[in-house]
Amino acid sequence: MTEEFDVEYDLVVVGGGGSGMSCAVQAGHNGLTVAVLEKMPTLGGSSSFAEGHAAFESDEQEKRGIHVSKDEAFQGYIDYSHWRADASVVSRFVENANKTIVKMRNEGAVYEEVITTAPDQPDELVTWHIPKGEVAHVIDLLEASARSMGVEIFLQTSAKQMLMKDGKIVGVVAEDADGQPVRIGAKAVVVGTGGYASNPEMLNKFTKFGCGDQIINIGNPGNTGDGLNMMFDVGAQPFESIGTTLLMPLMRGKTVTSHTNTAGFQPYLWVNRDGRRCTNEICGLNFGNAGDVVAGLPGSFYWSVIDQAQIDHLVDDGCEVGLGIYVRTGEKLVNLPTELESDVEAGLSAFKGDTIEDLATAIGVDPAVLAAEIAEYNTLCHAGKDTKFHKAKYLLAVEKGPFYAIKMEPGIMVTMGGIKINDNMQVIGADGKPIEGLYSVGCDAGGLFGESYILTIPGSANGFALTSGWLAADHATAAIRQNVDA
Ligand SMILES: Cc1cc2nc3c(=O)[nH]c(=O)nc-3n(C[C@H](O)[C@H](O)[C@H](O)COP(=O)(O)OP(=O)(O)OC[C@H]3O[C@@H](n4cnc5c(N)ncnc54)[C@H](O)[C@@H]3O)c2cc1C
Repeated sequence: MTEEFDVEYDLVVVGGGGSGMSCAVQAGHNGLTVAVLEKMPTLGGSSSFAEGHAAFESDEQEKRGIHVSKDEAFQGYIDYSHWRADASVVSRFVENANKTIVKMRNEGAVYEEVITTAPDQPDELVTWHIPKGEVAHVIDLLEASARSMGVEIFLQTSAKQMLMKDGKIVGVVAEDADGQPVRIGAKAVVVGTGGYASNPEMLNKFTKFGCGDQIINIGNPGNTGDGLNMMFDVGAQPFESIGTTLLMPLMRGKTVTSHTNTAGFQPYLWVNRDGRRCTNEICGLNFGNAGDVVAGLPGSFYWSVIDQAQIDHLVDDGCEVGLGIYVRTGEKLVNLPTELESDVEAGLSAFKGDTIEDLATAIGVDPAVLAAEIAEYNTLCHAGKDTKFHKAKYLLAVEKGPFYAIKMEPGIMVTMGGIKINDNMQVIGADGKPIEGLYSVGCDAGGLFGESYILTIPGSANGFALTSGWLAADHATAAIRQNVDA
């Protein structure tokens, strides 16, 4: 060990989420000495909330008779991003995602199904590979595998700064669980700190919505953009779509399993803060699109206005769209009546009125405006033709009181876009060349997405996290060996 460092490894992985753990395990298999630094008390990050990951031409798809070609996946990413995605990063992911399925299975994962997120969503590819115990269990398997190979995992240990010498990354400074600084030497550093969903200032800086303080993070609170900032400090460049987010409409104070929250994003009637209908609510079938809508509205919220008939329908027949496997599409929202009443009672973003005018007063909207807007909507529903926003389905009149309004605000799952990398996951510096010894993976790395997240290829974020992790490990291993051999 040199005097420069307290401890040295071949590879230091910053962030113990999906991308970081995939990287650490692969590097362990490759025979490297590896340390994982994780700032939170547990591993997993936002990956531990994920249900599944995308892959193309996987054996799990083939054995179920599901055919999603790499060609269609590649074209899907490129078209959806208006060709703004980095074709070489997209290609590397598309080509290798099916190997990730095999690798995770080799670690013990069992795939229970391969599905879409919303059956009614047009053109959605069947790419969402759901492992038993979801991704949280895959993280447990990766942790066990890493530990068995001697990978050292340091929890409550935050990386603070990259160490650079002669233009090459040589390690990191971290703060250990006792708050002490540690200098860790490394032949390569892989950064997978999961983006900046939990950093309102960075949300305001990089996204266009200007509502960073209002955005509710439902993922890991530790994803505060640390890795991005550390990489910028050593010359990394932002990818052009660094402001890409995966937003969704969310009821403040609720979780993704809540039935009131689910009622709030059904494609029924949404009005803005002035009580006016504001979009084609069909966007609710794709929560990413709906998230973009809600963030862009005045005040960044909408009211979902429903009546007793819709509540009865959601309870008896099930919801039109769910939220992944947290609430399945078609699931009967049996908790809705009691949950909604207690939310109204608690004043928790839900309000009730026996008449439309009472409801308008409760939510601070001009009663005449709301009444007129609902009357117009009901006329369209009865005519079966939405001449205002051209919604082809779900035209359910709102006319049988009591009436309810659920306030939906922007929730965030993850940010994507990050910094510029090449197809080896190497971080690109200001001169357009890789910064030697530095890699970025998962949500910190840019290239797969354009302006918005592509929910029509479900599982892309986690699929990319797991795939970019092991790809970075393989390249770093080869680079380290070349230097050793030279
Ligand atoms: C509710 C929910 C459901 C989701 N469902 C899906 C899904 O089904 N499919 C899908 O594709 N995507 C899904 N996602 C998104 C997906 O989980 C993530 O985009 C992806 O897995 C992120 O992986 P990552 O490794 O980049 O980040 P993470 O898994 O978040 O890992 C980053 C880690 O870095 C740590 N860290 C941060 N700063 C530091 C630091 N300074 N030092 C050390 N460690 C640090 C964090 O604490 C964290 O553990 C979901 C997200 C949420 C919130």
